[in-house]
Amino acid sequence: MSDDFDVVVIGAGPAGYPAAIRAAQHKLKVACVDEWKNFDGSYALGGTCLNAGCIPSKALLESSELYQRAKEEFSHHGIRLGEITLDLAAMQKRRASIVKTMTGGISALFKANGVVGYQGHGRLLPGNIVLVTGTDGAEKRLAAKHVILASGSVPVRLKPVPHDGKYIVDSWNALEFDAVPARLGVIGAGVIGLELGSVWRRLGSNVTVIEALDQFLPMVDQSIAKEAQRHFKKLGLDIKLGTTVSRAEVQGNTVSVVYTDAAGEHTLQVDKLVVAVGRRPYTDGLLADGTGVVVDERGFIAVDEHCRTPVQSVWAVGDAVRGPMLAHKGKEEGVMVADLIAGRFAEMNYKVIPSVIYTAPEIAWVGLTEEQVKASGRDYKVGSFPFSASGRARAMEAAVGMVKIVSAKDDDEILGIHIIGPMAGELIGEAVLAMEYSASTEDLQRTIHAHPTLSEALHEAALNVDKIAIDSLNR
Ligand code: FAD
Ligand code: NAD
Repeated sequence: MSDDFDVVVIGAGPAGYPAAIRAAQHKLKVACVDEWKNFDGSYALGGTCLNAGCIPSKALLESSELYQRAKEEFSHHGIRLGEITLDLAAMQKRRASIVKTMTGGISALFKANGVVGYQGHGRLLPGNIVLVTGTDGAEKRLAAKHVILASGSVPVRLKPVPHDGKYIVDSWNALEFDAVPARLGVIGAGVIGLELGSVWRRLGSNVTVIEALDQFLPMVDQSIAKEAQRHFKKLGLDIKLGTTVSRAEVQGNTVSVVYTDAAGEHTLQVDKLVVAVGRRPYTDGLLADGTGVVVDERGFIAVDEHCRTPVQSVWAVGDAVRGPMLAHKGKEEGVMVADLIAGRFAEMNYKVIPSVIYTAPEIAWVGLTEEQVKASGRDYKVGSFPFSASGRARAMEAAVGMVKIVSAKDDDEILGIHIIGPMAGELIGEAVLAMEYSASTEDLQRTIHAHPTLSEALHEAALNVDKIAIDSLNR
């Protein structure tokens, strides 16, 4: 016997749960299967993003930034506080409570939309049957007209650096430390390395980040990356580029990390070592033989531009498929697939997906970097505006960084917008909207921005593209 559904979604992360909700909004009969289990043994919806990624990391980034600002910045505002001390237990309790509220919110949304939730492992069998093995081991078969695979990703592990979850850890463990490590090592100066490195540095750790590449943040516009590197140095992050880790081992309460750089072999002693060298698609136990779904050589589920697998009624979205591993990318794919299943028009614009690194200052961008435009051979023009000239940024004691715009010379189209500075992750929304509507630089120049706001920096950067900025020298 099987239960019949129009749509069964495997995975309730930010790709899977929006797909389930949108399909239910189309009056389809929907089930969503998820097996996420927290360290305390509790089950929760929301996947990596809500339980071990976006949300808990942003909670700690916010708390740790406030702690640092209270210590270093409040006196500039004329606010005198007594001794400022850290209550890490309270900070972690707040983080956990935010996560619980958000994951509970998905359960409530499932109920309200009529999505049937199953706790357990989902496995696609041939003929669109999803076998659910419940947390008690009981099996149930769900028959589906359409299946959406949204199984997400897991951290990449390094063989010579054996994970033990206590001393040599991944990003999830590093979000739940119950004491500030005096010495923290991080392998990988990518998004996770920089965000988590910032959290623990602000809370008092001496942080060393070991990065294999010679170039810092290669995916970021290099003038922004250079500015970022300067700020991370000021924060006290010791970022070692062009460095290869050959092995790490735990001796007593210390991790010995052996690495090589241009000067030769060195040993670094730390109290915790975070491995943050990327994530890989997770499809363990997901596909039975004979389903017709293909997994490529890198482990991603093969899909077309509409996230359809070679099997017409099986779709895959989120981190488990090609493209940036970002929650909002997965969400839009999930919604697109649900709309397509319901017979509606839907498509994804993969060229206009924003990226944000939630450090201080924040880094955010959309579209092409100057290096990418240069490599494409298209003639281009560049404008920028420093936050040091923004009255609002000065009032916020956050006058660092800049907005940079790269536009085409031939038709004035905006090709990329890059921001480092206060609230960059919020400001990028305007850039995304402009590029989604194929705005020209002139469109942005003619758009009235409220004064005094940080968004004026976007306006002035657009003016500076044609060297007609008002509030800066047009260099
Ligand atoms: P996931 O969130 O991984 O969810 C997949 C779900 O499927 C999980 O619950 C899993 O248990 C379940 N599952 C897998 N296989 C099965 C199966 N066979 N049966 C049943 N259930 C199954 N992205 C951003 O955009 N912004 C950020 O600020 C950000 N911060 C991050 C910080 C950290 C520390 C990390 C690790 C990641 C961060 N990310 C961020 C990335 C983001 O978390 C992922 O891109 C996003 O979670 C991917 O969504 P998903 O639904 O594809 O997969
Ligand atoms: P990443 O790809 O951003 O960075 C990994 C870094 O590790 C790279 O710089 C890489 O060169 C380096 N590296 C790889 N192997 C190495 C080795 N052996 N030794 C030293 N360095 C090595 O990956 P991540 O930081 O682990 O993040 C994983 C994913 O999660 C990313 O794709 C990211 O999009 C997503 N994420 C997003 C956010 C956000 O949107 N703010 C935050 C966290 C994570």
